[in-house]
Amino acid sequence: MTLDWISPAERLQALPPYVFARLDELKARAREQGLDLIDLGMGNPDGPAPQPVIDAAICALQNPANHGYPPFEGTSSFRRAITSWYRRRYDVDLDPDSEALPLLGSKEGLTHLALAYLNPDDVVLVPSPAYPAHFRGPLIAGAKVHSLILKPEQDWLIDLAAIPEAIAKQAKILFFNYPSNPTGATAPREFFEEIVAFARRYEILLVHDLCYAELAFDGYQPTSLLEIPGAKEIGVEFHTLSKTYNMAGWRVGFVVGNRHIIQGLRTLKTNLDYGIFAALQSAAEIALELPDVYVNQVQDRYRRRRDFLIDGLAQLGWDIPKPKATMYVWVPCPIGMGSTDFALSVLQQTGVVVTPGNAFGVGGEGYVRVSLIAECDRLGEALKRFKEANIRYQSEALISG
Ligand SMILES: *Cc1c(COP(=O)(O)O)cnc(C)c1O
Repeated sequence: MTLDWISPAERLQALPPYVFARLDELKARAREQGLDLIDLGMGNPDGPAPQPVIDAAICALQNPANHGYPPFEGTSSFRRAITSWYRRRYDVDLDPDSEALPLLGSKEGLTHLALAYLNPDDVVLVPSPAYPAHFRGPLIAGAKVHSLILKPEQDWLIDLAAIPEAIAKQAKILFFNYPSNPTGATAPREFFEEIVAFARRYEILLVHDLCYAELAFDGYQPTSLLEIPGAKEIGVEFHTLSKTYNMAGWRVGFVVGNRHIIQGLRTLKTNLDYGIFAALQSAAEIALELPDVYVNQVQDRYRRRRDFLIDGLAQLGWDIPKPKATMYVWVPCPIGMGSTDFALSVLQQTGVVVTPGNAFGVGGEGYVRVSLIAECDRLGEALKRFKEANIRYQSEALISG
């Protein structure tokens, strides 16, 4: 008997195909053909979690008190570790009981925030390109996504003045993310001030994803939304331990900011999950308390790879600016070539996996994202193959976008 007559809900049919899943199929096929793949496609950090965090997790596993259901709202001591980290890092005071909520990774929280706050046909402002959860959450909720197309000539910053007044008045949520995945762009503090003023003027819930809070280089320090006066009245900010501490598989993130918004998300989550395994919450506290030297090592690692790759690409004629943050290099495709075609031809000719920019929305068309998730020897091998395959890049592509 087939179950063809049971089709998934319309909310699933509204979703464009998940490009990473498709890329996985293509990778599997390339592997079958015997290609030695260099996978720079995903944003999956390649190192282990810090040893003190692993030790704390092992120790916490031995404690049976951690084996039951954790509290819905996260353990009180992890919430306190979050707000202490925030005070240390940004000099911002938050109430650990109402203004901080642990999440099963920030992707979970971002998506559920959309479900907690959006009705069908509500209007949501989402940059394009963007991290996929920023538009997929609203699509699952049945909302209307109004894409804010980002452009290289505006340094990939949202052009707030270009948003039509009527759309701004209807909009319920604005998602944004600097330092940005996938573009690697950073936003100056004045931009944060402008976007807070915009959200306050139009009474829009402002959602900032600060996933790359710590992966910044050359002395650059990313701004937190909550450093901006008045931001907490209309906004929340999502954080994750996945990238900074190589803990992507542990599923630990958190949201901080406006207590009413966090309360709505908590209400939804109470009906869906029990939160993070308590043993991992106590290990996560140790991560947030690690001395700066640990974070500096991670930064150095990505900076070294960034410099190595961009300098190597420059020798092949690819003139790509160095991002001040994130673990990504955003590379224009050769003129006249779409991002899917370019990513596929790079994969077939060289075995190097990069992500087509259109995976992040139409605004990412014409680019591919290269993740700095391999050591320099592998990046060097990728460069060597680019050279051999004569994968060329015309610098005008930077302008034509
Ligand atoms: C990697 C990434 C996330 C996902 O983080 P998790 O906490 O692992 O779910 C969220 N936002 C952005 C922009 C990312 O790049």
